[in-house]
Amino acid sequence: MKLKKNQLLQLRGGKFPIDETVKLNLARKHQQLISAEPARFTGEAYTTSGLFIVEGRVSGELTMECARCLVKFPYRYNVAIKETFMDENQIEFDVDEEMEIHPLEDDEIDIIPYLEAALLLSLPHTLVCGEDCKGLCPECGTNRNEKDCGCVVERIDPRLAVLGELFGKQDK
Ligand SMILES: [Zn+2]
Ligand SMILES: [Zn+2]
Repeated sequence: MKLKKNQLLQLRGGKFPIDETVKLNLARKHQQLISAEPARFTGEAYTTSGLFIVEGRVSGELTMECARCLVKFPYRYNVAIKETFMDENQIEFDVDEEMEIHPLEDDEIDIIPYLEAALLLSLPHTLVCGEDCKGLCPECGTNRNEKDCGCVVERIDPRLAVLGELFGKQDK
């Protein structure tokens, strides 16, 4: 999805509405990502004092693999974005760095990479199919959400196990 700079300049303060289906390239950007439906971006673009601003929300659905039970599940997202652009040759050094202005080299603004980045940033590092997912049995590999395999597994948090070892050594 590309926005033409000239078109935006002709708005003279007005806002250009955007409602488009966009294809995001997320392959291999998240360990648990299986596939991505095309996303929808709704928002607006406008110019103000030499800046080009695009804001709105990107929403859609991803198919993820649960980190605990490895079952595929749908993950819906709806992420707000606001990106500010400026002609590269107009950016001065005293522009506040915190404004995070992206330099524009040509006549178009390609918003897709920013949508991809915002979505990826919003994804938790570890995704589970549900907070109560019981995961796979470490003994026999059964999906414990589907059936109770009956294995007896000592529930020791690996972090606590390390502490247990430390204390064990101290006791000796
Ligand atoms: Zn799960
Ligand atoms: Zn088991």
